[in-house]
Amino acid sequence: MPRTTVKIPTPLRSYVGGAAEVAVEAATVGTAIQLLVESHPELRRHLLNPEGRLRSFVSVYVNDADVRTLQRDATPLAEGDIVSIVPAIAGGAPSASRPVAPAAPTEPATPFSPEELRRYSRHLLLPEVGIRGQRALRRAKVLLVGTGGLGAPAALYLAAAGVGTLGLVDFDAIELSNLQRQVLYATDDVGRPKLDVARERLGRLNPYTTIVPHRGPLDASNALEVLRGYDLVLDGTDNFPTRYLVNDASVLLGKPNVYGSIYRFEGQVSVFDARRGPCYRCLYPEPPPPELVPSCAEAGVLGVLPGVVGALQATEAIKLIVGVGEPLIGRLLLYDASAMTFRELRLEKNPDCVLCSTHPTQHGLIDYPAFCGVTSSGAGPGVPEVTPEALRDELAGPEPPLLVDVREPEELEISHLDGALAIPKGELPERVDELTRARSVVVFCRSGGRSADATRLLLELGFRHVRSLRGGINAWAEKIDPSLARY
Ligand code: ZN
Repeated sequence: MPRTTVKIPTPLRSYVGGAAEVAVEAATVGTAIQLLVESHPELRRHLLNPEGRLRSFVSVYVNDADVRTLQRDATPLAEGDIVSIVPAIAGGAPSASRPVAPAAPTEPATPFSPEELRRYSRHLLLPEVGIRGQRALRRAKVLLVGTGGLGAPAALYLAAAGVGTLGLVDFDAIELSNLQRQVLYATDDVGRPKLDVARERLGRLNPYTTIVPHRGPLDASNALEVLRGYDLVLDGTDNFPTRYLVNDASVLLGKPNVYGSIYRFEGQVSVFDARRGPCYRCLYPEPPPPELVPSCAEAGVLGVLPGVVGALQATEAIKLIVGVGEPLIGRLLLYDASAMTFRELRLEKNPDCVLCSTHPTQHGLIDYPAFCGVTSSGAGPGVPEVTPEALRDELAGPEPPLLVDVREPEELEISHLDGALAIPKGELPERVDELTRARSVVVFCRSGGRSADATRLLLELGFRHVRSLRGGINAWAEKIDPSLARY
């Protein structure tokens, strides 16, 4: 039987005792995955659907070739093969490049001023860029969706490079916890809208770049209109609904989408251009269910990681604009900051992609929060909640509810509630017997998202009296106990 190695991605390592890889003796990919879930049963629901088939938001590769383009489960394994499991994270053959911004040869280009020539001189000295490439950059219109961890470094480099128009989509205000990685912003910017600060900072960096702010969330009602005005999109989102929205709108409009996503120490980068290769839907036809998706806020992220990934995205955007080099079309770059390795997987267009195949079944945008099983605000329908004030009264009453803290161990060191039972959300299905069904249960997390998922899970498991603490322990700290740290 061939001895093979299955590489375990970070989000799933806790189910295999923290191991980065597991040795398996198996003749096919299907058997390797079966043996893996038999020896590590908690992996099963992450990798296989109830029918025992590989879930659609998990990709499996053998020696860097996408198994789906081979025979998936039946793909034979040979001695020493490396099987990679690549789940969707929060976040075609390369062809000769051509600039994405159409040139206007009939109009004579405005000459660069002496100051611009000095500013861009290191580009002008590069034969691959030169005056021609610098003009393409000046003509280019790039939309950055998100000005957070990925968008911040990307925006700095794109403005510095002389991109003529940078559209920025964001609606958040700057929080202190952003500064660990969102290098556009400074300490005295905390509390201000990201777009205002980004515009000022980028304007100081390069006054020749026009910054176009798009306030408010991008959604199915405005995405096509916003994206239409740009040559390419840089996806710096941190959530699946927006990621699928950006992909679908880019495919429908025929625009390249420079994709990046991050998780703890790992990043993914690719260029999705459905005209020349696969789209994000080809890679992950469906999003993972929300309860299997830890966000950046829950999982943590190494601060410099989005800097690297965002800079890689900016690199790809500049290459596409100038029309130089080999774009990451049809390739998925995996960066592991912990091991300090870059790996590259080949991506193929999915011949049955609902969006970009020759027989698409989806011809417009859809309801993305519903598609991803999430609601944009609050706990969502069917999740009973309790306010911090009501919980305080109940805890002082004759039958106080059992408090269940579903945050990660690191978060307990920042703040905790006395008497709460700590069970991280991911361990809840296995440790549910520690809860008594007779007693009322209140689940909490940092801000109410994970506890809503956990409440939904407990209700499905037959618990009757379960509620989620609205706003999480941060709301408790704000309204009930100011001595607790908020984060
Ligand atoms: Zn596709």
